[in-house]
Amino acid sequence: MDLYDIYTHTIDDEDRCNECDEKRVMQCCNKCGEGICLHTSCCQTFPHRNNDIYIICNQCITSIETKLRPTSVDMCDLRLLKKKISKRLEANMKKLQEPEQETELEGENDS
Ligand SMILES: [Zn+2]
Ligand SMILES: [Zn+2]
Repeated sequence: MDLYDIYTHTIDDEDRCNECDEKRVMQCCNKCGEGICLHTSCCQTFPHRNNDIYIICNQCITSIETKLRPTSVDMCDLRLLKKKISKRLEANMKKLQEPEQETELEGENDS
């Protein structure tokens, strides 16, 4: 058992991160208020006004994601699809307007 293990085992349960249940609580989730250790595997931090950070624990992130997924992602995909289609059309139009230079035909008589 090294120093780190001793440290983590001597803290009270109440002071432990709600996500990993191992490290000491450093901050509270800005959404549910549960204590988190601020480790990247336990929460996500977002820049906030006044140089502050907004902290959201993993539990809240997954609940937010499941709520957002059905609508926002579909909308996004549709928009991307439309963009792709219009780009392809544009490229085809360009091909029709400016015929490719026929450099590839050179030397074909050898075969
Ligand atoms: Zn943690
Ligand atoms: Zn939370």
